[in-house]
Amino acid sequence: MAQPVIHWFRRDLRLMDNIALHEAINSGQPVVPVFIFDDTLLKSRRVGAPRVKFMLNALHSLNDSLASYGARLVIRRGDPVKVLSALIEQTSASAVYFNADYSPYARKRDDAVIEALDVDMHAYDDALLLSPGSVLKDDGDPYRVFTPFKKTWNAIDKPERVETHFKKSVFANDLHKLTDGLPSLRDLGFDDTIDVPEASEQRAKALLGTFIEQDIKVYDETRNALVIDPFGKDRPAGTSYLSPYLRLGLLSPRQAYWAARDAYSRARNDDYKTSVATWVSELTWREFYMHILYHYPHVMQRDFVDTYESLKWADDNDLLQAWKDGKTGYPVVDAPMRQLKAIGWMPNRARMIVASFLTKDLLIYWKHGDIHFMQHLIDGDPAANNGGWQWAAGTGTDAQPYFRIFNPISQSEKYASPDYLRHWIPELANVPDKYIHAPWTMDEPPANYPAPIVDHKEAREATIAAFKAARGEG
Ligand SMILES: Cc1cc2nc3c(=O)[nH]c(=O)nc-3n(C[C@H](O)[C@H](O)[C@H](O)COP(=O)(O)OP(=O)(O)OC[C@H]3O[C@@H](n4cnc5c(N)ncnc54)[C@H](O)[C@@H]3O)c2cc1C
Repeated sequence: MAQPVIHWFRRDLRLMDNIALHEAINSGQPVVPVFIFDDTLLKSRRVGAPRVKFMLNALHSLNDSLASYGARLVIRRGDPVKVLSALIEQTSASAVYFNADYSPYARKRDDAVIEALDVDMHAYDDALLLSPGSVLKDDGDPYRVFTPFKKTWNAIDKPERVETHFKKSVFANDLHKLTDGLPSLRDLGFDDTIDVPEASEQRAKALLGTFIEQDIKVYDETRNALVIDPFGKDRPAGTSYLSPYLRLGLLSPRQAYWAARDAYSRARNDDYKTSVATWVSELTWREFYMHILYHYPHVMQRDFVDTYESLKWADDNDLLQAWKDGKTGYPVVDAPMRQLKAIGWMPNRARMIVASFLTKDLLIYWKHGDIHFMQHLIDGDPAANNGGWQWAAGTGTDAQPYFRIFNPISQSEKYASPDYLRHWIPELANVPDKYIHAPWTMDEPPANYPAPIVDHKEAREATIAAFKAARGEG
């Protein structure tokens, strides 16, 4: 048999439009598809059971897709350098193909693998439409602000999708002899957890199809909706709900982008066109934050800007715990925090509201929220999550100015339906609509729901003072 090559799957758990896999197949050598469970990642405090479960399900589905070509996903666990060395020895593979990942840990891991292995290493840019380093200012520096980044990003041609012709002969024989098989969640060190949505490339394609055919038309209007059940059968128009699929590469950014471009070309009115452009802009935010993480990896540890180094963040575990548990007394904060724990996801508007509350009303450092989100979100992504948190805290790139602090009552009145609040906070079942956004204003508020843990007006003043002091304006 011809000497095989390895395709190493990481955050690209799909067969279609997968650049490194496509190139591995084009090499003409039989492909050994491999996934490695890396204990360093499994043990990270930024990893939690819901996302691992979603990933495990995605791996099952990938394995099934490979089975239709007579192949198997070769599953191993351990240090990628050691695992790949052993596999290369076992299979006599001549090369490893993989798609680049841009987080600080992934880059360090990939550098170590490239350094250690004595075979050809082929890395491709697949996780973004435009990779870090390809969207730069005229002076060659990376952008630090979104709008000019987007202007340049928009002006650059985007890569097309690749079409790969799969057939049985493209994969190596006897792959079942190489795999350790898929572990259970428990084998990986996690307790059983919440139900997660179907994790497959086919499901991602179907969700994208429905969104592009229907909901994208009204995205501009519906994108701030606080939806109860985004992954259920009767999911309402809101956003695309594709983030978990983009996160693990069940869908490629090219598939998303070109589908939106098709929709744009079919759009017959300005509102429709604006909606499509707004959605593409969200895909651009995804790229922007990945570029930021690549060029400024310090954001994982500390603020993007150094303006607030001396800020005295509050160190209050009780307040932090109340926020995590959805027991702050503010329904528009508590409902999404409970939704996060229950389904591993919350709408973007809700993420902004709860992040503002933690960092500006409770004055708790954004990193606590970042880690909590990463532990629970099925779409938890180091770049997007860090970017979102630092934006809310006022310490990031296009950050909310420190004096712009969401009012949890007006945000609730504007975006949260009484149904959404009552669904996630059963204690409010009998609270009339009139009081649902501020139940403490009732003559007899529900006894089993907490009173607000801070007074928003007082908290706002204290936060502005703390930010001003750190800026030397106090
Ligand atoms: C505090 C905070 C934390 C966040 N953490 C994450 C995270 O861990 N993972 C994550 O994917 N997104 C994160 N976001 C961004 C955003 O909330 C989610 O991407 C979005 O809610 C996912 O829903 P959707 O797929 O329906 O999005 P859509 O509105 O349909 O957008 C399409 C895609 O664009 C990308 N996107 C949209 N908004 C953003 C954004 N602001 N930043 C980066 N990418 C974006 C996502 O990949 C999303 O799937 C965070 C935002 C905030 C404010």
